[in-house]
Amino acid sequence: MPMTNRQLFLNHVGQTSAAPLCLEIVRAQGCKLVDVNGKEYIDLIGGISVCNVGHRHPKVIDAIKKQLDDYLHIMVYGELVQSPQVQYAKKLTEYLPAALNSVFFTASGSEATEGAMKLAKRFSNRTQIVSFKNSYHGSTQGALSVMGNEYWQQAFRPLLPDILQLNYNSFEDLESITERTACVIAETIQAEAGVLVPQNGWLKALRKRCDETGALLVLDEIQCGFGRNGTLWAFEQFDVVPDILLLGKALGGGMPLGAFIADKKIMDSFTHDPVLGHINTFGGHPVCCAAGLAAFHVLLDEKLIDSVSENEKQFISSLHHPKIKAIRSRGLMIAVEFDSFETNKKLIDELICHGIFTDWFLFASNCMRIVPPLTISKEEIKIACDKILNVLNSL
Ligand code: PMP
Repeated sequence: MPMTNRQLFLNHVGQTSAAPLCLEIVRAQGCKLVDVNGKEYIDLIGGISVCNVGHRHPKVIDAIKKQLDDYLHIMVYGELVQSPQVQYAKKLTEYLPAALNSVFFTASGSEATEGAMKLAKRFSNRTQIVSFKNSYHGSTQGALSVMGNEYWQQAFRPLLPDILQLNYNSFEDLESITERTACVIAETIQAEAGVLVPQNGWLKALRKRCDETGALLVLDEIQCGFGRNGTLWAFEQFDVVPDILLLGKALGGGMPLGAFIADKKIMDSFTHDPVLGHINTFGGHPVCCAAGLAAFHVLLDEKLIDSVSENEKQFISSLHHPKIKAIRSRGLMIAVEFDSFETNKKLIDELICHGIFTDWFLFASNCMRIVPPLTISKEEIKIACDKILNVLNSL
């Protein structure tokens, strides 16, 4: 008997938990996933905030096909002029504040974090990096060093030295940022903490403290960029502009792509002492940039951000149940809180049986994650909410 794909997955693909979901998806389109048995699922997490324009948007597929006819990988990042990279960098910077004018493409969000941390150290000639409790910036060792959660860090020590962790949303803690600080890295809205929004004036106070001390402000919008929170960039809602912006996830339109973006004056630090201060092989892969650029056009042309707030309201107003303890949201980034991980996990597993695909948050395991493609329809939201309530009744 040949092994099933499920058995091969468990035996030969590196595993990250003792109990992976093990669904075998064979097709994805829009807001729908289809498994190997032909069963359909409404996707409430869009690849964890990746598929903002839906799975396999025809314009993204066309752009990928066109690029396939021209070239795939031709050379490591940074040497050759590659049209998809150049055009995407131009388009992104047109929609960013003037000081964010130079895009360094990476192959993942974690690498964007790594690059930004190196850039800040190199530019400022300082060593300390400040981050916040319950923040998530990636899983590689530099990014892990600034993660705000001891459980995921402890087994991998020693991590980077000279990292200071402060409390997100604490005005008082900002005093600990000093002239020794190379950069402060923060998620504009903390996702894995279960959608934690900065309190009134806090990000402005953080910006001010960075200005006073000369520390660079790095905002991580890898999960919250591209309209997820109701504006193209989340930082627009708080009247601040970072010195370095981190992007990933939706940046590639379903293909792997990350970026850190800064002023050219800062970015050019990587060109000398040492030359090639940050390099990679696959950053800004032409197919990924072509896909990302097409997805960015779709996001803007189809005005997908316009419906985010209304869709958020539909979720929030539908999800009333005694078992739901709280809902935190900003746009289509929604955390539905329960009394425990056990209740949440039972619900999530049961919902999968009922054709609804969702999961939990890393630092808020009692919260269900709703971060669907922004293209989700009213009908799909209604079906999803009805099923969530029905399953909650049966638990
Ligand atoms: N920052 C944030 C806020 C993220 O949500 C993630 C991914 N979950 C990352 C960084 C790391 O991105 P990647 O998984 O592409 O390395």
